[in-house]
Amino acid sequence: MIIHSHISPLQQSLENERFQGKTIGFVPTMGALHEGHLRLIDASNQASDVTVCSIFVNPKQFNDPKDFEKYPNRIGADLEMLYAREAAAVFIPAVDEMYPPGVAFNKTYDLGGLDTRMEGAFRPGHFQGVCQVMDRLLHIVNADLLFMGQKDFQQCLVIRKLLEITGLKTKLEIFPTVRETSGLAMSSRNMRLSAEQKEQATLIYKILMDLKNDLRPGDLASLKRSAISELTNGGFKVDYVEIADTENLNPIHYWDGKQKAVAVVAAFLGEVRLIDNMLL
Ligand code: AMP
Repeated sequence: MIIHSHISPLQQSLENERFQGKTIGFVPTMGALHEGHLRLIDASNQASDVTVCSIFVNPKQFNDPKDFEKYPNRIGADLEMLYAREAAAVFIPAVDEMYPPGVAFNKTYDLGGLDTRMEGAFRPGHFQGVCQVMDRLLHIVNADLLFMGQKDFQQCLVIRKLLEITGLKTKLEIFPTVRETSGLAMSSRNMRLSAEQKEQATLIYKILMDLKNDLRPGDLASLKRSAISELTNGGFKVDYVEIADTENLNPIHYWDGKQKAVAVVAAFLGEVRLIDNMLL
């Protein structure tokens, strides 16, 4: 496994691979890797000849500086896991490599409103920051396939839109959320939860399952209200519980029984903000 921290040697080595007719799969991450990330590596290895994983905690997508400071860093363990799962290359740039001083990286992207709902509403600027880093990473790696997790459902739609805007030929592949046996969605942020909180956090999965099972055509207000109150009673500070259209994430107030819907939850447990979703 080749470890790159600079852009040009990475590009050069990928250029060589491409010259030999090999296909490139790309798995962008912020590190503190877990099985959810590693399944994306497996998927990429299966579908492409060369898998590149990036590890970069992008300051531009953190609206809360405390969240950025506390984001877990496990680079040694990450490298061991990537080596064991046979990633061909890992790209670990410093902030100055991604955003050289003196160069403005403040492009804004017209995401058709995808960046103003749900995560976008509670984390202003988050998706513009995600697009700024992904635009850069996607142009650097120029992959055939891009692997992302359904765990960040809204992010997947944002990146699908970004690929449309940039006209890049990279194809997005979305993989199902990997969960603990308890149902808790794996997340780097779970490392900041105590054992007791991890147990408590399984309530999010239970609520998503309830929303899936209880969904009936008609008004959805009371279904959403009871999910919020169950989470609040379970010790969460809820940002939102929403049932939304899977294509544009518009909230569904009245379900016709046919519209494709996703239930999404964002809530704090102590200081840790957790998100999860389920296709209904
Ligand atoms: P992150 O390091 O949190 O930015 O995540 C990097 C990639 O891994 C994103 O595409 C995430 O959606 C994906 N990912 C994170 N957690 C999971 C999970 N539990 N299951 C599947 N994919 C995940």
